[in-house]
Order: sequence, then structure tokens, then C-alpha cells
Amino acid sequence: MRCADVQKLVHLYLDDEFEEADRALLERHLLECSPCREMVAFEKSFKSSLRARIRRPMMPAEVRARLVQALDRADATHQGPVPRARGRVVVVGGSLMLAAGLAIVVGTVIREGDDSAIAIEAIRSHEKNLPVEIDGSEDKVKTFFAGRVPVPVHPPRLSVLGGSLVGARIGHLKGRDAAQIVYRVNNTPVTVHVFDAAGLPMSAPRKRILSDREIFVDSVRGYNVVFFRDRGVGYAFTSDLEENDMLRLVSTSLGQ
Ligand SMILES: [Zn+2]
Repeated sequence: MRCADVQKLVHLYLDDEFEEADRALLERHLLECSPCREMVAFEKSFKSSLRARIRRPMMPAEVRARLVQALDRADATHQGPVPRARGRVVVVGGSLMLAAGLAIVVGTVIREGDDSAIAIEAIRSHEKNLPVEIDGSEDKVKTFFAGRVPVPVHPPRLSVLGGSLVGARIGHLKGRDAAQIVYRVNNTPVTVHVFDAAGLPMSAPRKRILSDREIFVDSVRGYNVVFFRDRGVGYAFTSDLEENDMLRLVSTSLGQ
């Protein structure tokens, strides 16, 4: 056996896919050839470190649970946060190739989930403009949501810019039941989602501080979404009003 043969056969040898006689030949060569010994030792330690990396849990259980939930939702609704085919790959993931793909998909999910998805989902339901289930006064809307969404719903008053309440319906945001309250401000529709923000990461391209609270601002496809949490309750204001007008609406509603 020559060095070139060892080069060619090293992976079979390390994977134990070798005839006994060939194994003896190769090992005899290794006894006499120190460059090949070193090469084989290197390949062996590389392989075992790779195996250790694959066996290690690939992500914290909580992140994994969130990922699987997100994929289930994507499957159920045939839409984001990740394309279905890639989602499947993650769920059955395990081999080295899939693990490589997993890192990419996880990156996507986390970015979507933590940054822009609130804005994107809020815009999606704002755009759908589904009929309201309840109209009338703020009190009536507040009573309607009692027991229907997991947080107390105090509809913000948007009268600062001449806004008025149109009505409300039960909606969803980030897989949670949410109050979806519809207003008209200067003839422009504004949707306010009120939702359970517990454990929901929030971030956005722009951040402001209003009344000591972190306010997140994102702009997607001509819409502005301003969202924040107030004592565990999440609020997302969506419309195509100017960002400054949106911030004014938010800032007066925080003062209430
Ligand atoms: Zn050799």
C-alpha cells in the first residue's frame, strides 16, 4: 500500500468499512509512515469532534419549541415565517447536511420572530380589513373582550388627531388571540392590536422612548407600525399615517 492509497481509503478505514485484510495492510503502512499516521490521526479527531457537535442539542428547548410552533403555524396557514419545504427539513433534521441547513433556517425564524414579524403580522390583518364584530363606545368594546383575550383591553383614545373608534374584532398576533380595534383618523384607517406580550421579544429598526417606555417603529410597504408593551400588555398601532402622527397617537394614549 502506498501513501496515495491511504489518502484515498482513510475515510472508509475510520468508518470501519474495511475488509480485515485491507485493514492490516493499511495499518502496516501506518507503522512505517509517519506523515500518513499524522494524517489519519488528524482525520480521526476531526470526525469525532464533528460527531460531538451533531449530538449536542442544537438549540435550547424553548427556542426549539417556538420554532416548531412557528413551523406548525406556517404549515397550517400556508404562509410565513418560513417556507414549508424548509420547515420540514428542520423538523426531521439530524444528519450533518440538515444540521447545516438548520442553522440557516433557525437564523431566519429568529430574525422574523424577534424583529419584524409583529409589524408584518399587524400589517397583514390591518390590510385584510375584516368586518368588525362589535361597534360602539370604548366601554362596549372593553366589555366585549373580557374573557375573550388573555389581557384586559382598554381601547386607546385616538381623539387627539380627530380619530374615532369604528369597532373591534378578535384577531391574532404572533399566534395569540388579540383584540383588533379599528379606528378612523383623518379618514385613514388605524388598527390597534392589544395582545398578551409576555415572553414576546420586541425589537425594530427604530426605537423611541415615550413616557419612559421603549417604543418600536417599523415601516413596511408604506405602512408604519408602532408597537410597545405596557405592564405586560402589548400594543401595535398600524396605519399609513405619517410616523410622527402615529407617535402622537401612541404618546397621548400612553398618557391616558
Ligand atoms: Zn504513507
